[in-house]
Amino acid sequence: MIHTANSQQIRDGLVTDVYFERTREILEAKGIDRVVTAEFLAKDFPKDYPWAVLAGVEECISLLKDLPVDVRVIREGTFIHPFQPVLEIRGKYLDFGRYETALLGFLCQASGVATMAARCRKAAGNLPLTSFGARRMHPAIAPMVERNAYIGGCDGVALGLGAELVGIEPSGTMPHALILIMGDTVAATQAFHDIIAPHVKRVSLIDTFNDEKVEALNVAKALGKDLYAVRLDTPKSRRGDFRKIMEEVRWELDLRGFGHVKLFISGGLDEYRIQDYRDCADAFGVGTAITAAPVIDFSMDIVEVENKPLAKKGKRSGSKNVMRCEDCMETVVVPRGKTPKSCSCGGKMFEILTPLVSHGKLKTPLPTPREIRDHVMGQLARTEGL
Ligand SMILES: [Zn+2]
Repeated sequence: MIHTANSQQIRDGLVTDVYFERTREILEAKGIDRVVTAEFLAKDFPKDYPWAVLAGVEECISLLKDLPVDVRVIREGTFIHPFQPVLEIRGKYLDFGRYETALLGFLCQASGVATMAARCRKAAGNLPLTSFGARRMHPAIAPMVERNAYIGGCDGVALGLGAELVGIEPSGTMPHALILIMGDTVAATQAFHDIIAPHVKRVSLIDTFNDEKVEALNVAKALGKDLYAVRLDTPKSRRGDFRKIMEEVRWELDLRGFGHVKLFISGGLDEYRIQDYRDCADAFGVGTAITAAPVIDFSMDIVEVENKPLAKKGKRSGSKNVMRCEDCMETVVVPRGKTPKSCSCGGKMFEILTPLVSHGKLKTPLPTPREIRDHVMGQLARTEGL
């Protein structure tokens, strides 16, 4: 038995905390069903991240578009900050209240993954970045995680189903298993070159048996100009000074005319290690840091009941506009309808929490994963620091 809910169980509202179920039972028994406006926002981000990438919107919309509700949402892939509503639902509470658990789950995890991928992308600059971490999570959600790793900024993902979801080819190198079974690094690399389609880059794993420097030279001599990169996946326990190993491998390759062979590194990387190694590595594979990224803690709160502002303590009532400056990206949250004409910098402000679903009808098509990723890259280029 596999311990996950399927899509139908989620659509049927079965993935819900019992107190929502009991609320529904009480309201139905008492014949009370009010129109409410509910908003989703995060009050803070993990480790005080200065920004996060909103993701999980497509899955939320796939649930909400069949319900008799109106939805405003920030475009998936937009950089967000604490206390900015990212999703607003208006409708009869009993029509959507039981989906709170599932909707938050979609947003919190997808945004956490996309945000970490974007942080790794920021650290890597323009160097290739691949998501390798499917094995670190439950397989039922692996495609979702890979999709959000891609939209956040990974160039490639290793999992076939994840790549299919975003419309790219999966990327990968070679596992230690191939080398161990063939018994020799050069033989395994040569076999890869013989068998695998020519458009797949030849990346040889050089840390299985012998010194990385010796293995790098051996595979470079065997494949020559066909060798794209050597990969160092050396575990921390055997690594010593990883930078020194990389510098030495680079030196020896360059000295013998293999300057075209790139250094691909993986194994326990996160955004800070990528930043540290960016000057000596040429490509990165990231696993656990992205797949087990801290979630973004969104919560859902009612802010209007029967179209009148009403909210719990510590929460601003009323529907809101979220306005962003097109010049400096400054964002302000104002009561709905009270939109500022311009930013303090003089730039034009535009609404980013825009209507997407109107009573079960999608008003505009959702962006493709590629378009979402481009949107992330555009903002990342205008953002400083991690
Ligand atoms: Zn501005």
